[in-house]
Order: sequence, then structure tokens, then C-alpha cells
Amino acid sequence: MRIAPPIVHAIFPSLIISLGQHKRNDMKSTDNTNTRSGPKTDLLPNLTRELANMDSCIRCGLCHSVCPTYQETHLEEESPRGRIAMAKALTEGHIEFSHDLIVHEESCLMCDACTEICPAGFNMETLGLALRTDFRAQNKSTHRINRLLLLPLIKLKLLRTIAKSLHTFQKLGLIEFFKKSQISKLFGAQQLEKLLPSINDSFLLGDGQKWEVPSSKGQITIATGCVMGVAFPNVHRAEIRLLNAMGYSVTAPPQGCCGAVHAHNGFTKDAQEMARSQIDAFNQTEGPILVDASGCTAHLKNYPVILRDDPVYFEQAEHFSKRVVDATEFFAPLVKDLPLKKLPGKIAYQDACHLANLQKIREQPRQILNAIPGIQLEEMTDPTMCCGSAGIYNILEPEMARNLGRRKATSVKETGATIVVTTNPGCQLQLESHLADEQVQVIHILELLDKAYMYDSNNNSDTASA
Ligand code: SF4
Ligand code: SF4
Repeated sequence: MRIAPPIVHAIFPSLIISLGQHKRNDMKSTDNTNTRSGPKTDLLPNLTRELANMDSCIRCGLCHSVCPTYQETHLEEESPRGRIAMAKALTEGHIEFSHDLIVHEESCLMCDACTEICPAGFNMETLGLALRTDFRAQNKSTHRINRLLLLPLIKLKLLRTIAKSLHTFQKLGLIEFFKKSQISKLFGAQQLEKLLPSINDSFLLGDGQKWEVPSSKGQITIATGCVMGVAFPNVHRAEIRLLNAMGYSVTAPPQGCCGAVHAHNGFTKDAQEMARSQIDAFNQTEGPILVDASGCTAHLKNYPVILRDDPVYFEQAEHFSKRVVDATEFFAPLVKDLPLKKLPGKIAYQDACHLANLQKIREQPRQILNAIPGIQLEEMTDPTMCCGSAGIYNILEPEMARNLGRRKATSVKETGATIVVTTNPGCQLQLESHLADEQVQVIHILELLDKAYMYDSNNNSDTASA
């Protein structure tokens, strides 16, 4: 864990005292059950383990400027500092569980903007995972998701079946009928319907496929994920086409979902089991594992944290995570040598939180976009501010997600761009739902690069579209 540099301690003591007092006053308004019942080591083992991380917060408040939920509400309890203070007080037994406390903790998007800016080395990713694990184990979560609802992410055969039915529904216009019939209002499902991905008629889920090229430069293994494989298979196809055209053979071993949704919603045992399965699945290959969904890349790189208590898999998780490469990291250094045609137009780029904040990958996507002739990259206001998607957050916290989605749509429109580029399926769906009435197209960065690539008509580089 990073430790605050001495200068931080030298500069901030007065702030710590005054803001700490402010926080304590604020806490009283949030929770008035200040009964000291002692540390909850047994009840909250994961939060107890995070005490040193929580203690690293010097309460400077720098993170307020980047926290989406604080920016929306201006409430201390909706800020990183407030959430840390509440979690710490709960863990140490100074306060008890209350509805308010749980609601404010769970409205965190886990976007890690606070982790990225924090001068003291605080890490919201590990605190958020611990908090969700303990809340779920104590049956305290206000996010009432049944574990069975997430089963299709574990059983991809089931996901295929559901996706096929959904595709038929969408093709027959039944979703549109459902929307217009007011039935959706009865179930409060209008927003959910907007966020449903359009299901492709030809899935691409890893099943041992190979896309080989003669005199290959090497083999690249790709992660095909779950929703990506049924709703965004054309992104995988663009990725494979580009890799083949650049001389790489590609393989997609039989695999599953990375487990990010389970981990971020407190279903930790499932998430650990999914991580072990993924490690086993990719063990039969060597070299880089390319991932074209930034949320999945971040989670796959985080397997050593997910499996840190597993004596058998921890070392394997470390080895595995070093193989994981986000597609933008891979393509960025290569684009300058690629034959790319002109794609004129103003475009905006949406930094996915899990790419920009967790993986610190901000330059590489811009490098790719700037390499495409004719493209004019327009930066939006607060490009790294979360769009409100955050896994399934937009389903669990629809109001906050809607506000953040609108804010992001406004930032996009202000640039005058006609295309907004993203690297993550969740962001893509959220942006599409908030820009549906605008003349703005949302596209994954690899699909744009694929459009710009001047394929040699003599080679077989469009195999992936077959
Ligand atoms: S989390 Fe970091 S940036 Fe935020 S108040 Fe604490 S020390 Fe400051
Ligand atoms: S992870 Fe994001 S939403 Fe959560 S406290 Fe940090 S900045 Fe705010």
C-alpha cells in the first residue's frame, strides 16, 4: 500500500482537524445510533482488514472535486471521505448499521476517481470490494439482487439461450411493443429496456476457435467475456481482423465471464470461483491475453486481490494478471505503422473509469484516435467523470445513473462531435441511451480502427467477419 509522502502530513494537519470535525458533525445527521459496541472484527472481517487503508485517508477533501456522487449531491456522506469515515466508524463499532449508512455506501460507483487523485494512497477498489462482501454476508445490502439473476454470467449456455430469445423479441419488435403498451411502466422497466443491449444474431463466445495466419508473428489469446460475446461480438471480430491483418494468429479458448459484476456486488465466493475458472481456461495458452472491454481488463488484472487468500491460485493469479493487456495498450504503439485511411469528422473520447482510473490508461486510446487521418479529437469537460454505467449500477441506482448519464451526454454535445468513442460495453450502452435523440453515434475504439484500416484485399484478413 502506498504511504502518504511526508509533505502531505506537513501540509494538511490543520485541514485534517477542521474537516474531521465537520465529518463528525455530518455523521450525526446520518446516523444517530452512536452506541459503542466495540470493533466488529467477526461480523465485518473484510472491512477490518481494510482499516489501515481507511486510516490512510488524511481527510484533505481533494477527492470531492472528482467524485461523481459528491458532485451531484454536495453531501459529505456521498463523498469518498464521508464513505471512508462511515465505514471506519462502523468497523470500529462507534456506530451501528443504519439504512442511511448503507444507502450512501452503496451509491458509490467504484469508479476509483478518488483512488486516482488521492495524495495519501487510499484505495477505494479494495475498500469497496470489502464493504460489499461484508454487507452481502450480513444481509444488509439495499441492492436486492438475487444471486440467481446473475447465474447466466456463470453458465454461458444459459446466457446464450436468454440472448437468443431476446434477439428474437427485438427482431419481432416485441420490445418496442412492450415499451409502447405501458406494461413496462407497470413494472417500472422503462429505463431497463433502454439499457438493454441490442443482441447480435451471431455470437462470439470463446469456444476454442482459432484464426490463424501464415508466417504468424505470434499468437494472441483473446478474452471474449459474457455480454461482449452476445451483444458486441463485432468488436471481437474487429479485434481479430486487425490482429490477423497485422500478422498475428488469434485464439479464443473455452472460457467464461471474468466475475467483475459478482465481485462488485458482494458475491465474492462466486467471483473467486469464476477467477479460478478463468485462470484454468487460459492456462492452456501462452503470451498476452488481449481484452477489449476495459471493465473486464481491470478486473482480470485484479485477480491477485480477488484470490489473495487462496494458497493454490494466488501465484497463478499473479502470473495470469501480468499476461492481461487492454486492447488499447496493445494497439497504441503499433498504429503509427498501420495503413489507415481518412475518416473525417469531429470525435469525442469517453474515458472509461476502469481504464483511466484503475489502469491509468489515458494516453493510449488518444494515440490510436490521433493516428487516424482526418479525425479531429475534441476533449470533453471532465472526460474521466463516470457516465453512470458502472457495471449494473445503472440498474441498481437508476436515479444517480440517469443524472450522470445526462451530465455526460451534455459534455459530449458541447464538443460538437458526431461520434463518441468508448472502450467499454457498459459505457457504450449508457451513452447510447442518453444520446439516442441526438445525431451522435457511439462506437467502440476497435470498430473505428477497423473501419480506418486499409485491408489488403489479397489476404484473408476478414476471416473474423465470416
Ligand atoms: S480519500 Fe484521499 S483525497 Fe479523499 S479525503 Fe481522504 S486523503 Fe484526501
Ligand atoms: S469510487 Fe467514485 S463514486 Fe465512489 S467515492 Fe470514489 S470517486 Fe466517489
